[in-house]
Amino acid sequence: AQIKEVEFVKSSGRAKDCPRDARPEFAILGRSNVGKSSLINALVRKKEVALTSKRPGKTQLINHFLVNRSWYIVDLPGYGFAKASDAARMDWSAFTKGYFLNRDSLVAVLLLIDASVPPQKIDLDCANWIGRNNIPMTFVFTKCDKVKGGKGKRPDENIRDFQELIIQNYREHPPWIMTSSVTGLGRDNLLLHMSQLRNY
Ligand code: GDP
Repeated sequence: AQIKEVEFVKSSGRAKDCPRDARPEFAILGRSNVGKSSLINALVRKKEVALTSKRPGKTQLINHFLVNRSWYIVDLPGYGFAKASDAARMDWSAFTKGYFLNRDSLVAVLLLIDASVPPQKIDLDCANWIGRNNIPMTFVFTKCDKVKGGKGKRPDENIRDFQELIIQNYREHPPWIMTSSVTGLGRDNLLLHMSQLRNY
């Protein structure tokens, strides 16, 4: 299940410009600042692999990375920029939905959820949209190393709250994995999970 080689293949401005071979792929999606770049870098054990533009309103791209010459990690634009204009938000949804609904080689969406904060409406909306469209999804909870003082809840409590708020569109609840890019928690689990979904 280990990653031996990662090659950046291309950035696509439109879903229909994505690579056309049928190699299986995993799309990584989450709110801006959820820890997506850190997670991708931890997975592939490299710095600065994730290239997605972080600034709202800038061109958003779908980035394909070929792993071990056999499957793709796809870095999708983050959603939920606090400062993004309505136009930029609309762009995000039209463009990303186009990708999800037309991508036969998509094995699963890895939806990143920040476990250090309470459930966020935008994440629930995104998870429910993916669920309603019957797209296979795994919840990848990030920042599970963060321990809140005072009134803040622990990561495991935030995760439980999130799971309880998800509508039950799935015959089975989506699989979920706890991760931390700081401690490396969940890295091997996530790699194993992806290899099981690919069947090798
Ligand atoms: P992105 O916008 O989703 O690509 O998020 P980044 O990977 O840039 O991370 C956003 C912020 O969260 C940065 O300050 C990171 O250092 C921090 N961060 C990311 N992953 C973790 C994690 O697993 N644990 C902790 N404690 N902080 C994290």
